[in-house]
Amino acid sequence: MGGGQASCGHGQESGRVGDATVRAPRAAFDAVLLDAFGTLVELEPPAPRLRAGLWEIARVDVGEAAAGRAFRAEIEHYLAHHLEGRDAGSLDALRADCAEVIRRSLGLADGAHAAVREAMLGAIRFVAYPDAAPALAALRSCGMRLVVASNWDCSLADALASAGLGGAVDAVVHSAKVGAAKPDPRLFAAALEEAGVSPERAVHVGDSVEHDVEGAQAAGVTSVLVRRVPGAGGPADIAGAPPGTAEIRSLAELPALLSASGWRR
Ligand SMILES: [Mg+2]
Repeated sequence: MGGGQASCGHGQESGRVGDATVRAPRAAFDAVLLDAFGTLVELEPPAPRLRAGLWEIARVDVGEAAAGRAFRAEIEHYLAHHLEGRDAGSLDALRADCAEVIRRSLGLADGAHAAVREAMLGAIRFVAYPDAAPALAALRSCGMRLVVASNWDCSLADALASAGLGGAVDAVVHSAKVGAAKPDPRLFAAALEEAGVSPERAVHVGDSVEHDVEGAQAAGVTSVLVRRVPGAGGPADIAGAPPGTAEIRSLAELPALLSASGWRR
């Protein structure tokens, strides 16, 4: 970690080399904005857990294929409606709607709603990528302010906490609170406000070309595309980074990338 810390450009004292006073270069950025899903956390396969949960709660075996189809429908519904989950009450209503999508997909009776909801919530489990916590710690030790900027409902902070990343970032901004989802620049503006920096002093890191790279650029924020290696536990964008955008395979590359000389201003 010592090497990472020294490479940040923050907190480096001026020193003397021979007769010359050498001033350490200032790091290019004061804040790192981070996408959540596909960047910091991933979803454990939910269908097997949904099937097992429904068996345990209601003694219904829907089969793995049907559970998979039902969860895909739920995810599609969630993505289209996640902005509705602004607070505890509206999130409760959104989850009820999602449970209904699953219940109908499975062809279960109206009376199965509560069991489906319980099984659904038990099936959704986000876990941190192994590189997330070490990278966040390294960036923070450099003095970087870390703000998660994500298309998510108001449960984002809880999801990060349950994935073990709760204390690893300084602030969390979700689209449901902002009322706009990436690539909308309003989401980035809200994250920059939380970070307390201007767009040119922040870098945004995410796994989607459309949402993260193009969205950040439209907001005047430099971006880095995380393109995890297929089969190594993460979704890889089909499209690579646009020309001029840095691309990394793992968050472990991030501290060194941000300290590279080309990034200094
Ligand atoms: Mg993502």
